[in-house]
Amino acid sequence: MTSATTTLPVLDHWIGGTSTAGVGARLGPVYDPALGQVAKQVRLGAAADVDAAVAAAKAAFAGWSQASLAKRTQVLFAFRELLNARVGELAAIITEEHGKVLSDAAGEIARGLEVVEFACGVAQLQKGAYSEQASTGVDVYSLRQALGVVGIISPFNFPAMVPMWFFPLAIAVGNTVVLKPSEKDPSASLWMARLWQEAGLPDGVFNVVNGDKEAVDALLVHPDVASISFVGSTPIAQHVYSTGTAAGKRVQALGGAKNHMLVLPDADLDLVADSAVNAGFGSAGERCMAVSVVVAVDSIADALIDKVTTRMASLRTGDGRRGCDMGPLITREHRDKVASYVDQAVTDGATVVVDGRKGEFDGAADGFWLGPTLVDRVPTSSSVYTDEIFGPVLSIVRVSSYEEGLELINSGAFGNGTAIFTNDGGAARRFQHEVEVGMVGINVPIPVPVAYHSFGGWKASLFGDAKAYGTHGVDFFTREKAVTARWLDPSHGGINLGFPQNA
Ligand code: NAD
Repeated sequence: MTSATTTLPVLDHWIGGTSTAGVGARLGPVYDPALGQVAKQVRLGAAADVDAAVAAAKAAFAGWSQASLAKRTQVLFAFRELLNARVGELAAIITEEHGKVLSDAAGEIARGLEVVEFACGVAQLQKGAYSEQASTGVDVYSLRQALGVVGIISPFNFPAMVPMWFFPLAIAVGNTVVLKPSEKDPSASLWMARLWQEAGLPDGVFNVVNGDKEAVDALLVHPDVASISFVGSTPIAQHVYSTGTAAGKRVQALGGAKNHMLVLPDADLDLVADSAVNAGFGSAGERCMAVSVVVAVDSIADALIDKVTTRMASLRTGDGRRGCDMGPLITREHRDKVASYVDQAVTDGATVVVDGRKGEFDGAADGFWLGPTLVDRVPTSSSVYTDEIFGPVLSIVRVSSYEEGLELINSGAFGNGTAIFTNDGGAARRFQHEVEVGMVGINVPIPVPVAYHSFGGWKASLFGDAKAYGTHGVDFFTREKAVTARWLDPSHGGINLGFPQNA
């Protein structure tokens, strides 16, 4: 799709406080996945569009970085109030383009709002530190200052929450932003840009450039962009990290995942079954914190599978606007790729317990449907086990002991999230200590940290050393400056060419 030849709406960029078509000529399709139809088109920005957005952000930085803490706090609060009052409106936009059910869309907004609320405390968060009389008559203190123009590149699966992992804090501490949302569901970002304007944010502080690789690559090497916050798949995270850091930028790049849930024999199996179904099939498995592998100690595996399949039978897959439990996948290609793993499972000797390809769907015939799928006895050599499938395919791997389960989890390439289900506090404590994963749940299947902690995985799930939001976010979006000061008093004086020492 390269030109606006149809009557479909075209989504523009948002630069300097206005909607603009920019100069890039290419257009991409934006689907309504529950209908299986292209509903809109989006502009795929060129390097010149990125230049325009960065120039607007750079011009706005001079004023916004000097705005008082009181002013910045007021704008953050206003944004929070507006967003909180209009969650339903944004949720409908997300469901239309992403496909996730309305309640789930509202849920991701709520988690994004947490970060906005955290950023409302910027006066406290951006405080420096002061040491009086570090040396005789000398005080030392530190300041936290904004970086400048910061770039944010986000994935399709959380079109509101993931941008909100970054931009509330980035803006609160005085930066200006160029956001490149996923080209698959860009409307949430454009909607939030208008909301910022309504909240009183000066034009140019928050800009949205739509696009794909071309816009991303231009942002990564732009000399006026100070930092990049990226979330997406691991190969692209690697590319973003190496290109951005080679261009001298501060980069945090969050990648893909394959999250395991370890179930010990003493766990409450009803809680485990509820958790596995919720975390495996919520948002059709298109969550970076989705549970995709249940690692069950063999003695309880059959009983657990019975409970999981009973629950799966009651799930309704269909149009997210119809009160269903699970919506469609993001595109036809992605649905077909996810479905191909079911064939692969059979080829690799696994047992398909529930085949989601055969389900009935409460939606249009062409919707990108795939029902919840359960595969048992998945060999760990199979791509069903090793690949991030990013769909409603839940694998069961059986182990003989806690140790075998732990070794399996620790040998994986990713380290985003994991969970243990047990009633043994000692086993849980051992797991939290021994597991090599960045976010750990204990009888909690999706351990996304609250906004005042930080979100991020280990290994191939995070490139760079700064996680998202929390204190990591404040550190990432500020530069610390240490000041050593002496004010003259009558007792000072004397020449001394030695290295300064404290006395
Ligand atoms: P993606 O990597 O395809 O795209 C992410 C962003 O990168 C998009 O804005 C896209 O336009 C851009 N992009 C895509 N290809 C590019 C290229 N070749 N060069 C430069 N930029 C490119 O990811 P996605 O499919 O949108 O999202 C799903 C992935 O994101 C999954 O792997 C999921 O695990 C991951 N994810 C991770 C987290 C986390 O916190 N670790 C959170 C959400 C999603």
